[in-house]
Amino acid sequence: MFENLSERLSGVFDRLTKQGSLSEEDVKTALREVRVALLEADVSLPVARDFVKTVQDKATGQAVTKSVTPGQQVVKIVHDALVDVLKGEAEPGALKVDNPPAPILMVGLQGGGKTTTTAKLAKRLKERDGKKVLMASLDVNRPAAMEQLAILGTQIGVDTLPIVKGENPVAIAKRAKTQAGLGGYDVYMLDTAGRLSIDEELMAQVEAVRDVANPRETLLVVDGLTGQDAVNTAQNFDDRIGITGVVLTRMDGDGRGGAALSMRAVTGKPIRFVGLGEKMDALETFEPERIAGRILG
Ligand code: GDP
Repeated sequence: MFENLSERLSGVFDRLTKQGSLSEEDVKTALREVRVALLEADVSLPVARDFVKTVQDKATGQAVTKSVTPGQQVVKIVHDALVDVLKGEAEPGALKVDNPPAPILMVGLQGGGKTTTTAKLAKRLKERDGKKVLMASLDVNRPAAMEQLAILGTQIGVDTLPIVKGENPVAIAKRAKTQAGLGGYDVYMLDTAGRLSIDEELMAQVEAVRDVANPRETLLVVDGLTGQDAVNTAQNFDDRIGITGVVLTRMDGDGRGGAALSMRAVTGKPIRFVGLGEKMDALETFEPERIAGRILG
C-alpha cells in the first residue's frame, strides 16, 4: 500500500543514517527529498508542506545535528510526524456499537466498494466481536446492488433484510430498525445508494436516511486509487452528511497511498479501515503506528 513511498524514503534515510554527523544543510536536503517523495505519492501539497515544516522545526529544535546518531533521530521525528498526520480520535477498528440495535450508515459513490465493505465489516463484527448483524440495502435504483448484498450475506452467514419491491430508502431504513429491534440484533448496517458523482438527489436521500436512522457510525467508503479525489469526496460527504470515519478501498492496488496520508489532515476524519482485496477477509484496521512503521520500513 505504500511501497513506492517507502522505497523512496528508505533511500533518503539510508544516506542520512550512514553519515556519522549531519549539518543542518544535510537535514534540509533530506527533507526536500522527503517532500518530493510525498508529492509523488500523491499527498496533497499543503499537507506535504506542513509535514516537512513540522519535521524541520523539530529537527532543528532538538539539536539533531549534535546528537550521537543524527540520522536515526531524523527518522524518529519523521515517524512521529507520520503517526500524527494519520491519527484520529477514534480507536482504529473499534466501532461504536453499544446500545443495541446500533445503526451503522454506509455512504459513498457507486463503485467505491460500499457493498463489499458493508459485508466485510458485518463479517468482522460477527466473528471478532460476536455481534448479531443485520444488513439492509437501500439502493432502490439498482436491484442488482440489493441482490449483491443478499448474496454476500448468505456467503458470510449474516442476515439481510428481505427485499420489498417499491419501497423507498427511508421506509427500508425504518423497517431495518424495527426488524433489528424485534430480531435481537446488535447492529444493523444500512448500505445506501451510490451515484457516479455527488449530486443533490443522492445527498438529499442519504440525509433523509440519516435523519431516521440516527446512526452511531457513518462510514464513507471511497476508492483509495482515486487519490485526492477520494479526499475531496470525503470532505463533501462530511460537510453534508457528517461522517465518523473513512474506509479506503483498493489499497491493495495502490503503491502510492497519498489519499491515506492526506485524508485526516484535510478532512479531520480518521481512516478506520482499509480494503485490501475483493475477498471478505481483505479488510484491515488502519493503525497509524503500524502504517508509519510500514512506510519507514
Ligand atoms: P459499491 O458500488 O460502492 O457498492 O461497490 P462494490 O462493493 O460493488 O465494489 C465494486 C468492485 O470493487 C467490486 O468488484 C468489488 O469486489 C471491488 N472491491 C471492493 N473493495 C475492494 C478492495 O479493497 N480491493 C479490490 N481490489 N477490490 C475491491
